[in-house]
Amino acid sequence: MSGSLKNLIFSSFRFGSLFCLLSAVVVTGQVAHAADAEITDIRVGKQGLSTRIVIDVDRSIDASVFALAGPARLVIDLPEVGWRLPARPLPTKIGVLSRLRYGLFKPGNSRIVIDLNQPSMVHQALALPATSNKPNRLVIDLARTSGTRFLQAVAADPVIIKSIPGQIRSAEVPRPPSNSTITTPQGQKVVVAKPTKPSVEPAASPVRKRPVVAPPGKSTPKLASLRVPTKPASLVASKKRTIVIDPGHGGVDPGAIGVSGIYEKHITLAAARDLKEHLERTGRFKVYLTRDRDVFIRLRGRIEIARERKADLFLSVHADTIRNRKIRGLSVYTLSEKASDKEAGELADRENKSDLIAGIDLSHESEEVTNILIDLAQRETMNQSARLASLLVDELKSRVKVLRNPHRFAGFAVLKAPDVPSVLIEMGFLSNRDDERALRSKSHRRKVAHSIAAAVDAYFQKIESASRP
Ligand SMILES: [Zn+2]
Repeated sequence: MSGSLKNLIFSSFRFGSLFCLLSAVVVTGQVAHAADAEITDIRVGKQGLSTRIVIDVDRSIDASVFALAGPARLVIDLPEVGWRLPARPLPTKIGVLSRLRYGLFKPGNSRIVIDLNQPSMVHQALALPATSNKPNRLVIDLARTSGTRFLQAVAADPVIIKSIPGQIRSAEVPRPPSNSTITTPQGQKVVVAKPTKPSVEPAASPVRKRPVVAPPGKSTPKLASLRVPTKPASLVASKKRTIVIDPGHGGVDPGAIGVSGIYEKHITLAAARDLKEHLERTGRFKVYLTRDRDVFIRLRGRIEIARERKADLFLSVHADTIRNRKIRGLSVYTLSEKASDKEAGELADRENKSDLIAGIDLSHESEEVTNILIDLAQRETMNQSARLASLLVDELKSRVKVLRNPHRFAGFAVLKAPDVPSVLIEMGFLSNRDDERALRSKSHRRKVAHSIAAAVDAYFQKIESASRP
């Protein structure tokens, strides 16, 4: 993480109250259902050699904890909860914790992801019931360990924390293969309990045995099954075109953090909703969002939504940050194996880290997510994406500030649908005060939406006129 991002995070807390105000203006969507538990604080402290994480919650809930390698992370999976944390900085750089983030991972499953600065494992995990002056708490103690033991912990089942209201009960410690006792990093012998069978408590526990991960996507479809993106001959003028808009990031992945502390995930959702409204009002488009709430979606999950909806276009909307706070302006990206410039390449690397940020184990997957190899079927789609991108730039540059060379190329994983023309729009820089202010304002987002809608119209008009005899 760059120093500038650290500064951004820091400044976001200096402007904490302002941030609350602003995030209320840009729809947040992170509202707990009445029935959901609420997390009211997350504290981290050093306790001798171990790092203690305490999560306050307004009622008793279960949790499961597991470790991930490459990079070393600890994931705490919770049932879907609301977040009502105090307005102060999240803990950073305490003991083995370097940073943490939290949010909805998928419906029914909220998550806290902790970046570890060294291999560490859980040596105690407890659910403590409320007392007269303390709320229910989940307590997780971490201690540094060897690389080998860390990998054993990664391979082991998640540690299940079962809360029993009114009782204190120790959780299991990570279970190394075929051992009934383990030695903690402090040298204590600990008896390892057998993992609880889900059948023992049917329906009572929302906690899964394995890390809760969205099902892996289908492999790249065979050439024969691909729809050719535009079949001019089959066009019917009155047919509504389908557009899938993809608000970047969400849930446990906040995206970039703006100068005032606003999260990219909130800006992208607000912009996507504005754009949807604009496109639908023309009566010519059917519009779907990949997400309409503050939830995490995997990169390939976003592509799958576009393919399932048989989208004619896929528009991913984002807002970037950059070290130089003076830089501002919108830019449009299309897929390419080679980045058009260094900045575009770095941007794609950042955007492609989303799954990792959300605490997904990518170690068993092919490099499909990050490795951008383009097959033949994608070539025509890429040409169409580039055509749309240049129409977008033409429309947008007369109405909003655009970056120098506003159409750029790089290996964005989210633009890899082989049969759906796809572009990614970075609407501006949240690291620039003027851009950030503009993106928070509905009138500016409407202006952007208006231009995008005009470009989308021009794109389909060209296709249709080319198809006429
Ligand atoms: Zn982004």
